[in-house]
Amino acid sequence: MGGEAPPTTEEEAKPDDETKDLRRKPLNSKTVPTRDTATRARVTPATGQTVTGTRETPTGIHLTTDQGQHGPFDLIVDASGAASPLSPLAARPLAFGAVWAHVPWPATDLPTTELRQRYHRAARMAGILPIGHLPGDPTPRAAVFWSLPTADLDTWPERDLNDWKAEVTGFWPAMSPFLAQITDKAQLTPARYSHGSLRKPHGQRLIHIGDAAHRASPQLGQGANMALLDARALALALRLPLEDAIPE
Ligand SMILES: Cc1cc2nc3c(=O)[nH]c(=O)nc-3n(C[C@H](O)[C@H](O)[C@H](O)COP(=O)(O)OP(=O)(O)OC[C@H]3O[C@@H](n4cnc5c(N)ncnc54)[C@H](O)[C@@H]3O)c2cc1C
Repeated sequence: MGGEAPPTTEEEAKPDDETKDLRRKPLNSKTVPTRDTATRARVTPATGQTVTGTRETPTGIHLTTDQGQHGPFDLIVDASGAASPLSPLAARPLAFGAVWAHVPWPATDLPTTELRQRYHRAARMAGILPIGHLPGDPTPRAAVFWSLPTADLDTWPERDLNDWKAEVTGFWPAMSPFLAQITDKAQLTPARYSHGSLRKPHGQRLIHIGDAAHRASPQLGQGANMALLDARALALALRLPLEDAIPE
């Protein structure tokens, strides 16, 4: 990110080359980098819509959502993650997934700036990750996660919460104050993992980045980095004319 302070009001914002480029990108909350950037570029993000597909016409590419159609655009950037409705990626399912939740950071000796994970061989793993705070709430939060074979994920809906908490706490007692804040199974999200990459992550007017282009086990801890690097590489490439930035 540049060192320049962002404009403080919309009046101060002046479109520059970067913001002109932004206007050529789709109106999708994931593909407009931040509300500040969008405001600078005089782009109004369209949020609360589910993308369902794309449609190419002679004038460009259109994005279809559950609420209608947007476009035409020069290019659509698909950053809709592992369940992308636009990506043709057929990833290989992995043998392990996880259940995870985020909770307020409790009184604990664990460091607030480090990921900590406890393993038994490669078969069992519990983790605690500091994740900052929610918008408008300064309370620091933690992501807590517990690996499960996919067969155990299949039966997760029947698993008793207290029984599960006792198993995890027995495995790693430091999890106890984090798990104490999980009182309803609905706080826990089951996640299944898969692995694979698109050989060619783009067509003429549609490009896939992040998990929509490549999926790997979160245990590698690189998915977010790779998604950010994709976005950065694409932003740099788009300084060129589109046909040079994304050659066939
Ligand atoms: C349990 C778990 C733990 C992880 N831990 C780590 C870690 O420690 N380190 C790490 O680097 N990575 C980790 N990852 C992986 C990381 O979260 C992903 O690689 C990363 O979030 C990919 O970013 P993305 O922007 O491509 O997709 P996402 O972050 O998945 O964003 C996709 C967005 O698109 C939206 N979306 C999806 N479909 C539609 C649609 N049809 N219409 C409109 N919007 C849609 C989604 O709501 C979401 O906001 C973890 C993943 C999981 C599941």
